[in-house]
Amino acid sequence: MDCIFCKIIDKKIDAKVIFEDKEIIAFKDIHPIAPVHVLIIPKKHIASINDIEKGDAALLGKMIITARDIARELEISEGGYKLLFRTGKNGGQEVDHIHLHLIGGAALHEEIRPLEVEWQ
Ligand code: AMP
Ligand code: ZN
Repeated sequence: MDCIFCKIIDKKIDAKVIFEDKEIIAFKDIHPIAPVHVLIIPKKHIASINDIEKGDAALLGKMIITARDIARELEISEGGYKLLFRTGKNGGQEVDHIHLHLIGGAALHEEIRPLEVEWQ
């Protein structure tokens, strides 16, 4: 499968890995948008949040706990940070292997502004 993140998992492409175990790998984003920008991914190829199954619940939970632990290690816990899953085209997802962004180390500007729209 031609997946860039699967290639990182298989060590066919280099990445700055900061955590790895049997199920999860976390590495520095190649184009950071903040002083700390880490991607936490499962080793299992799941294309997006749209593709998760009930049996993936523990794995997804573990990704969040891993993000929490990395935030602690990188000393951004107290200052705060953002966790983000982009999903699909409108969500701005560019890599079709599920990844949790851990973004912090500075005050983050809100990307999402209120729009003049009403809930239907
Ligand atoms: P998204 O838009 O949520 O799909 O985010 C994809 C992220 O992957 C972007 O922030 C990219 O900078 C990052 N990225 C793409 N290729 C690599 C790579 N080889 N190593 C590390 N990060 C990458
Ligand atoms: Zn993949």
